[in-house]
Amino acid sequence: MNKLFLKKITYYFLANFFFTLPKKSKGIILCYHRASNSKVDDKNDPNNSLTVSIQEFRNQILKIQSKYRIVSLKEFLLHINSDSNEFLVVVTFDDGYYDNFSDLLPIISELKIPITIYITTSFLSKNKSYIWWYELWHYIKSNNKLIFDGYNYDISRYKNKLHIFNIISRTIINRENENSWQELKSKIKKFNGNKISNSINLNIKQLKMLKENDFVNIGSHSVNHLNMSKLSIKELNYELKKSKKILEKILKYKITDFAYPFGTENEVTEREFIETNNSNYNNAVTTYNIPIMKGCNPFALPRVGIDNSINHKNIFGLLSRYSYLIKDLFKNLKL
Ligand SMILES: [Zn+2]
Repeated sequence: MNKLFLKKITYYFLANFFFTLPKKSKGIILCYHRASNSKVDDKNDPNNSLTVSIQEFRNQILKIQSKYRIVSLKEFLLHINSDSNEFLVVVTFDDGYYDNFSDLLPIISELKIPITIYITTSFLSKNKSYIWWYELWHYIKSNNKLIFDGYNYDISRYKNKLHIFNIISRTIINRENENSWQELKSKIKKFNGNKISNSINLNIKQLKMLKENDFVNIGSHSVNHLNMSKLSIKELNYELKKSKKILEKILKYKITDFAYPFGTENEVTEREFIETNNSNYNNAVTTYNIPIMKGCNPFALPRVGIDNSINHKNIFGLLSRYSYLIKDLFKNLKL
C-alpha cells in the first residue's frame, strides 16, 4: 500500500463520515462538461479531464438519486430561500459540446433528470467556432517545436508538451500576452483549420433539438468564453447581452441563466455579479468551491466541477461540504 492510496482512503472515509453530520447547506450544483460514449484516442490529452464516460455518468446519477433529489435550477433557486432542510442536487453542463446532444440526451430522457446546459454562442457557428483548449493541444501534440512570446520551445517530449500547454493556457485565460497568443492562434489555424472545434461543438440545429427536450434547460456561457474580470465594461456587457440575444433568437425562449467562463475567484468577482444582474438575467453560476447557504447571492452561485477523476463510488465524499475542509487540512499538513 503506498502513501497516495492511504491518503485517498483516509480522505474519502473522513469525507463520508462528516457527510452524515447535520448540515445547513441547501445543496450542490454540479458542473460537468461532456459525457460521452467515444473511446479516448489520445490518452495524453489534458482535455480528457473534461469528459466522463456515459456509463460513469449514469452510475453517478443513480448513486446520487439513491439518497438525494436532483432538481432543476429553477426549483433550486426557490429552495435557496425556503426553510426546507433538504439537500438538493442540480446538474449542469458547460460550453455546448456535440456529445451533449448525441450521447447525453438519450440518458437524460431515460433517467428523467433535469439539466441546464450553458452555451458559448461563438462555438455554435462553423467559421467562428474555436475551442482553443482542444485546438492548442492538437497543435502541441502534432509538433516538436513551438514559438511563443519570443521563446523557442522544444516540445518533442510529452512532459514538455504538457508543461507548455499549461503555461500557454494560463496566459490565454489571464489575457496576459494577447499578441503572442494571436500570433500562435493564426499558426494553429493554418495547421488545424477549425476541424477539432467543428467536430466537437454543437450546431444550431442540434441546440434546437436539445431545447425541445423537456428535461433540458439552456443558459448562456457568454459569446467568446473569455476571462470576464479582464474585460472592459463595454466588452463585458457585450458578452452578457449579445449571447443572451443570440440564444433567444435561435430558441425563441427567454434566457435567464448564466454561467461565467472559467468561473473561479480569479475570473469573476463583484463587478461581474452586478453587471450580470443588470443584463436581465435571473441568476448566474461560478465555480467557487464553497457551500451554498440560505440567502446566497443568486448571481454568485457556487458549483463543484466533476472531472474524469471522480468515481461514482466516492461521489458522496465530493457532495459533502466537509470534503472541502478535509482537502484543505490535507493540503496544509502536506500529507
Ligand atoms: Zn466553459
